Amino acid sequence: MINNNYVKKVYEKLESKYSHEKEFLQAAKEVLETLEPVVEKDPQIEKLGILERITEPERMISFRVSWVDDNGNVQVNTGYRCQFNSAIGPYKGGIRFHPSVNQSVIKFLGFEQTFKNSLTGLAMGGGKGGSDFEPKGKSDMEIMRFCQSYMTELYRHIGQFTDVPAGDIGVGKREIGYMFGQYKRLANEFTGVLTGKALEFGGSLGRTQATGYGLCYFTQRMLKKLKDTDLDDKKVIISGSGNVAIYAAEKAIALGAKVIAMSDSNGYIYDRNGVDLDVIKEIKEVKRGRIKEYLETYPNVVYVDNCHEIWNLPCDVALPCATQNEIDEKAARTLVANGCMAVAEGANMPSTPEAVEVFLDSGILYAPGKASNAGGVATSGLEMSQNSLRLSWSFEEVDSRLKDIMENIFDTCYETSKKYSDGKNLVAGANIAGFVKVCEAMKIQGVAY
Ligand code: NDP
Repeated sequence: MINNNYVKKVYEKLESKYSHEKEFLQAAKEVLETLEPVVEKDPQIEKLGILERITEPERMISFRVSWVDDNGNVQVNTGYRCQFNSAIGPYKGGIRFHPSVNQSVIKFLGFEQTFKNSLTGLAMGGGKGGSDFEPKGKSDMEIMRFCQSYMTELYRHIGQFTDVPAGDIGVGKREIGYMFGQYKRLANEFTGVLTGKALEFGGSLGRTQATGYGLCYFTQRMLKKLKDTDLDDKKVIISGSGNVAIYAAEKAIALGAKVIAMSDSNGYIYDRNGVDLDVIKEIKEVKRGRIKEYLETYPNVVYVDNCHEIWNLPCDVALPCATQNEIDEKAARTLVANGCMAVAEGANMPSTPEAVEVFLDSGILYAPGKASNAGGVATSGLEMSQNSLRLSWSFEEVDSRLKDIMENIFDTCYETSKKYSDGKNLVAGANIAGFVKVCEAMKIQGVAY
């Protein structure tokens, strides 16, 4: 609930102006609610219209993406790039290809990204892009033609000092490669304009693993500091089986955990002995298949044809790594009732507001995505540094910087939460810490920037 009059006024205006953008309003409300104590301490925030400005993207680009399928038919999708806030650095954030993408989804992701990037301590503003294109079932040539067409419009809006996109759902190394190739052709320059590139042309070692590994480093720190335990011997459930989920599983297993379940949008597998990650990698990264195919190697494993029911399984730690709003209030109550001690988000906004309330009220550990999944963009920031320096760092060097950054993010969220509330609300800690830096930069730069 929002109590402060200024914060209330800002949110009500957003609600009436963008009533149809439910994901964006959800993200904005969650952040605004937690900023009340900061707004009350600093009258400059209202005087300079910081909240009105920080909730409105600096630029929202929407464009036609037409392409030709393998049968020679013309197809049309909508492309987006939301350049949300550049107060502390060039816009930075991924590109998502999924049929559920619309303006609201891209705006919520760009808004969240602004605070997340600030938390990393690196000089990156917030942005996000994507398209309602469905990559599933498309041939490699169709993917290439789509990526090229998307970049044909996007290239004029981005640049190494302006806006540096990366991957997200449906966009991995293959898509980044096609988009980079097209950017280079059109701009006639070779710069680090995208991150998540292959190693052959400027990618960083450790970027593929970064979001998942970073999530585990954050979780490990949180368990140690707040419960004096760690991931060793814990039963872990991970939703999704994409980039974030696979490398979260890899690091969790390396830290001694047993990952008992993983999913895709069709269903989940439950392997009481702990999943065989090599089999999952083969299905998802090599064959681009469905998680159900795990049964071809392990016929006795349970497969349930409903991805949402994964949260019914008892576990010690839950790592949602698929998509937004995948844990609702009922799922949250089930997790708590089954004795789950920590939920740490690899995906962006995977818990509904009602689910977050359940986690906070129950006293279990809850790590919001904008803090716990920041390892991907942090390592993208390191990729940008390496590109500028024309150097490449070893895997060990990147991984050790990633670990430091994630532990730092946890400490910052925890200390900020202690300063403004009870030390347990990491949502408030993350939002406030991310906000303060951007807010100060906006104040210094004046209004008409
Ligand atoms: P991928 O495309 O690699 O994997 C996404 C996974 O989630 C797949 O298993 C997919 O299943 C599942 N999924 C996607 N949409 C839905 C849906 N509507 N319902 C159920 N399952 C779904 O994406 P990433 O792993 O890169 O991203 C996952 C999440 O992590 C996203 O929220 C993303 O924003 C966030 N994130 C990603 C970062 C990165 O570095 N990649 C950085 C920070 C956050 P299926 O194959 O069946 O579609």
